[in-house]
Amino acid sequence: MDLGIRGKRALVCASSKGLGLGCAEALAEAGVDLVMNARGAEALEAAAEDLRRRFGVSVQTVAADVTTPEGQAAVIAAAEGVDILVNNAGGPPPGMWSDWERDDFIAALDANMLTPIALIKALVPPMIERGWGRVVNITSQSVKAPIAVLGLSNSARAGLTGYVAGTARQVAQYGVTINNLLPGSHDTDRIAALDAGTAKAAGISPEEARAARQAGIPAGRDGTRQEFGATCAFMCSQHAGFMVGQNILLDGGNVNATL
Ligand code: NAP
Repeated sequence: MDLGIRGKRALVCASSKGLGLGCAEALAEAGVDLVMNARGAEALEAAAEDLRRRFGVSVQTVAADVTTPEGQAAVIAAAEGVDILVNNAGGPPPGMWSDWERDDFIAALDANMLTPIALIKALVPPMIERGWGRVVNITSQSVKAPIAVLGLSNSARAGLTGYVAGTARQVAQYGVTINNLLPGSHDTDRIAALDAGTAKAAGISPEEARAARQAGIPAGRDGTRQEFGATCAFMCSQHAGFMVGQNILLDGGNVNATL
């Protein structure tokens, strides 16, 4: 399917690896020029060069922590005038509900709620002026069904989801759509780190922790970054103009719910 976005320009935050990279890859395949971001310059430059070589698109890189005001300023300056914004950042650490203090919540809110909101506020107005834009926020299945050890994530992402629900309905009349893409378990460094934590706590191997987790997923496996990226690219396509304020769950059936 031709996604109809060849020649458009996108900012994909936190995209040197994992789900962000999957989104950048799928957009590049659709002919979209990119601004890619991550903290580590080496992996970021390698990923960017790979996409330039494979898809012939222009890729600019911004090595910065997107959750800081300085990082946001650098990313926004490079991404001025983009048609597509994919919001992403690392997820908060796991823990116990009774351990988290105010500073832990502030850090999680900064990273997973206030950063995407800041980028939306900076980059959506020119999209409105041009009458076309797409925003996809990478959130989590934890918005639909809480993951107890990820309480910081549950909280911050619920806040972003509420903001998007209202804002998407305010900007839709200008041809700009804002939606959230909710990953269940995907095969990335993040899930490997979470499995390692579970294994340590339970006194089992990471492989056993992974197998036990996957046994609970109806699809019987983790998702891939390519599957995730293809869904993101569709949400950024011409065909998705009537999708407004939605939460698209990609979880292999893991959230046991009818709706
Ligand atoms: P990942 O494999 O750890 O990749 C994270 C990517 O983001 C890397 O490129 C990393 O590069 C970059 N990054 C992290 N923090 C950043 C920051 N502050 N500023 C700029 N770039 C940053 O993670 P992932 O699995 O793709 O997860 C992406 C998001 O989806 C996370 O918020 C995660 O919590 C959420 N999620 C993932 C899953 C899953 O199963 N994988 C499930 C639910 C939700 P640098 O380290 O060099 O910055």
